[in-house]
Amino acid sequence: MKRLSTFGLMLFFLIGILFGIQSLSAQTEEKSRDQIPEQYKWNLKDLYPSIEDWRKNKGELQVKMEKFSNYKGKLGQSGRMLQEALEYYSILAKDLGRLNAYATMLSDEDKRLAAPLGMEQEMTQLSTDFDKITAFGEPEILSIPAETMTRFFKEEPGLAEYRQFIDNIQRRKAHTLSESEEAIIAESGLIAGTAQNIYSILSNADLPRPTVKLSDGREVTLDAAGYATNRFSPVREDRIKVFNTFFTSLNDFRRTFGTQLNGEVQKNIFYKNVRKYNSCLESSLDRNNVPASVYYKLIENVNKNLPVLHRYMKLRQRMLGIDTLHYYDMYPSLIKNVPLNYSYDEATDIVKKALAVLGKDYTTTLDHAYKERWIDVYPSTGKRFGAYSAGDVYDVHPYILLNYNNKYDDMSTLAHELGHTMHSYFSNKNQPFIVADYPIFLAEVASTVNEALLIDYMLKEIKDPEKRLSILGNYLENYRTTLFRQTQFAEYELKIHAAGERGEALTGDKFTEIYLDILKRYYGHDQGVSVIDDLYGIEWAFIPHFYYNFYVFQYSTSFMASQALAEKLLSGKEDMVQKYLAFLSSGGSDYAIPTLKKVGIDMTSDDPFIIAINKMNKIMDEMEKILAGMKK
Ligand SMILES: [Zn+2]
Repeated sequence: MKRLSTFGLMLFFLIGILFGIQSLSAQTEEKSRDQIPEQYKWNLKDLYPSIEDWRKNKGELQVKMEKFSNYKGKLGQSGRMLQEALEYYSILAKDLGRLNAYATMLSDEDKRLAAPLGMEQEMTQLSTDFDKITAFGEPEILSIPAETMTRFFKEEPGLAEYRQFIDNIQRRKAHTLSESEEAIIAESGLIAGTAQNIYSILSNADLPRPTVKLSDGREVTLDAAGYATNRFSPVREDRIKVFNTFFTSLNDFRRTFGTQLNGEVQKNIFYKNVRKYNSCLESSLDRNNVPASVYYKLIENVNKNLPVLHRYMKLRQRMLGIDTLHYYDMYPSLIKNVPLNYSYDEATDIVKKALAVLGKDYTTTLDHAYKERWIDVYPSTGKRFGAYSAGDVYDVHPYILLNYNNKYDDMSTLAHELGHTMHSYFSNKNQPFIVADYPIFLAEVASTVNEALLIDYMLKEIKDPEKRLSILGNYLENYRTTLFRQTQFAEYELKIHAAGERGEALTGDKFTEIYLDILKRYYGHDQGVSVIDDLYGIEWAFIPHFYYNFYVFQYSTSFMASQALAEKLLSGKEDMVQKYLAFLSSGGSDYAIPTLKKVGIDMTSDDPFIIAINKMNKIMDEMEKILAGMKK
């Protein structure tokens, strides 16, 4: 038995990786954690006063967990018994989430420390135990006949709280196995992450890191972070050097990377087969009750609109003043030397003003987040890079990890993570624990709505044409890296899994061949829009998201939904804010697609995509107008 969102915390880390890596910049002087004032560090004491208390609570949970077995074989006895078991289950899951959050966040303060890392590993073990102990729940609930369940709901009014949870289990009847089979699947959890873990260790630690000497004499190490930082370099020769050196170093290990990714694909095929799904895609999407048609529609719409991406590519080429656009020209800012710097204190103020359109309830809660130390602001030695929001702490409040570095991007990340945090906060406040977590499909909606509102606010405030170009250019990059690039990844995932399902051999070279084909199509290689050198076909080895099992398409769908939502919120329709707050408060009380429909967004139609792509064209219209005015 699994609350939809036991995945919750993991999810936020993934988001952190995606959005964090861009704002990671070379730290010239890194502070140690104790040099940072308290007010800029999160207060984990809200979770547990001390590590001893954490440990005590963990011990208590272990004892409580064992007692859950007392319900084994009894869930179908009566509505009362079922309600009691689910209530007990909620208590366990809530504690587990809180213990997990504490261990992870403590460890993220300084990744070099062994003790918190050990606590994190203990939690992996405890979570696996939890899954094992509660494994009988789903099949037992499934075996309760529909008419009996109806009677249970009538007899036991308290059971109503669990209706969505129960429905979410019963709808997967065809894919849930016997109790002993489910126990075996739960047991496989410990080995299922091996491909991903090895990938992570290889690419983050063991892979030989080449160095290059840049035009300013600096010697930089090209690990993933070094590459991610230096691909933004305004000096083209430097970018060429960085790209070619980094991707050559990945290419040397294509066989190992290929074997790992094949391991991941085979794992997904294993679960699809044992759970009797037609495809890995269906198997993955069914967890959130999202129809595969939403996935296909996204890929279809993006492919149809590649000319809009190509329009941006031509604009980029013009603004960078180069003859032929190459893949290494994608990242540098369109406008050089526009200082868009904001201290953290300025950023909190600006973000609050930008989000004021969401009403007083929203901004008052923002103040709590700022003042009551929900946020860990600055980078320090050993701290986890990137940014995330951790919402799986029901009775307390969500937390945010940042690595704030005074750039516009950092301010935007703050708005983004606050979106997650507010979504969690309002849902936790308004929903019973069992359905408080919002569906993963909705995870990036509130965050990217905030980014859009921030951009809109900044464009109202800033009149300077160069600064406006810079912000609009940033927005376009969001479109490229979120709507287009993540769909490109989604398409790739679909293709490699389909190949695996057909029984084709998946080697490093094969992964590259499939990737290169998609990459060239997206960037208009054959139409002369840009030149994609064959070496960059190895880029798949740099992308951790291919280990996240059809996750990334939700960045694109969320982005699409949020662009449409932001347009509606800004249009000033009176009940829109109210509807939006209801959306933020709804958690997982309904499935994702109907939840979005209630706030006016129909993901099974083309409408959100059309709104989003129209907006992208409008951004380019305005940029071209400004450029014409500047005679550029
Ligand atoms: Zn996010």
